[in-house]
Amino acid sequence: MTEVPFNRAYLTGAELDYVGQAVDSGIIGGDGPFTKKATALVAGLTGATSALLTTSCTHALELSALLLDLRPGDEVIMPSFTFTSTANAFVLRGATPVFVDIRPDTLNLDERLTEAAITSRTRAVVVVHYAGVACEMATIMAIASRHRLSVIEDNAHGLGGSYHGRPLGSFGAMATQSFHVTKNVQCGEGGALVIGDDRLTERAEIIREKGTDRARFFRGQVDKYCWRDLGSSYLPSELLAAYLLGQLESFERIQEKRGQVWSAYDQRLAVWACERGVRRPTVPAGCVQPAHLYYLLLPNPVQRDDFLRHLSERGVRAVHHYQPLHNAPAGLRHARVAPGGCSVTEEVADVLVRLPLFAGMAAEEVDHVVDSVLAYAPSRVAL
Ligand SMILES: *Cc1c(COP(=O)(O)O)cnc(C)c1O
Repeated sequence: MTEVPFNRAYLTGAELDYVGQAVDSGIIGGDGPFTKKATALVAGLTGATSALLTTSCTHALELSALLLDLRPGDEVIMPSFTFTSTANAFVLRGATPVFVDIRPDTLNLDERLTEAAITSRTRAVVVVHYAGVACEMATIMAIASRHRLSVIEDNAHGLGGSYHGRPLGSFGAMATQSFHVTKNVQCGEGGALVIGDDRLTERAEIIREKGTDRARFFRGQVDKYCWRDLGSSYLPSELLAAYLLGQLESFERIQEKRGQVWSAYDQRLAVWACERGVRRPTVPAGCVQPAHLYYLLLPNPVQRDDFLRHLSERGVRAVHHYQPLHNAPAGLRHARVAPGGCSVTEEVADVLVRLPLFAGMAAEEVDHVVDSVLAYAPSRVAL
């Protein structure tokens, strides 16, 4: 039987060579030549003037929370349909995530519900461009500016995506990227903080370097470095940056390969989905999505589980996605739900299925996933 994993690490071919060069050079700490090159490419792809590589998107989120100087009691608006780190980074600062429901079409923070969730304690809005499909940024930026709130884009899915011609990651005061092995561009574990507000750059460098101005020292701008501020160690070693550069230099090829899989699913499953009452991803006009993930929304939770079982029996490792944070044990302790609740989030989480999607997918693997999906008819329990 053909086994199709959910994800398989993709090698462009340059990674080992670059890692070898870093090893041979002896420069294997942080912020060396590979970090500089990789950083420039990340900034270019996100339309930013500056970016800082980090050890993960989680750490980039923590860095963004430190930069906001949040205090206990401050509130941060965000979706509940996201990865734990989106909320956890702010809870670590003592802030309270306030969960706003998502739109039933794009599964993004519902901008129409956002303003009603603002209180006198609200400091920031964190948007997650789910599947790399942009949130309604025109409305969200207008609300944020009206209420003087910072916008942070958790852009873990969105590298290469755009909204009315503008790259995702270029809207907020800050955006965070992930280079985890499951993301489009990968180095095992890694990330970046993309900075849209230049006033934040110098302090971001300090926080990332254990609270010191070591980055300025290395540039010859100060003659010794010292402890300036709160901080942690968020910079990756050159070994990771070298691997990452190999990936970033082949970004177009990665995107083309992923895009082919995404489009094959979307076209070949369209009729089946329509007949079965299954919903496919919505990509609004003006949005370019970067083929980060392909999902289907089954008609109900019983059919979703039935469908996953059917695919698993054929060796297709499809999976569900985020369990709503507002109902999770830590979410109940540390966060609250905006008035109006998160019913769409709860419904979507129970019916969503992600299909295997990775850059190195063979045509036979795509065929096998498509054939397996098309062979699905709800079993008796699911009708
Ligand atoms: C993957 C992901 C993260 C975490 O990324 P890491 O690099 O693993 O820390 C955060 N937010 C979202 C939306 C993600 O998909």
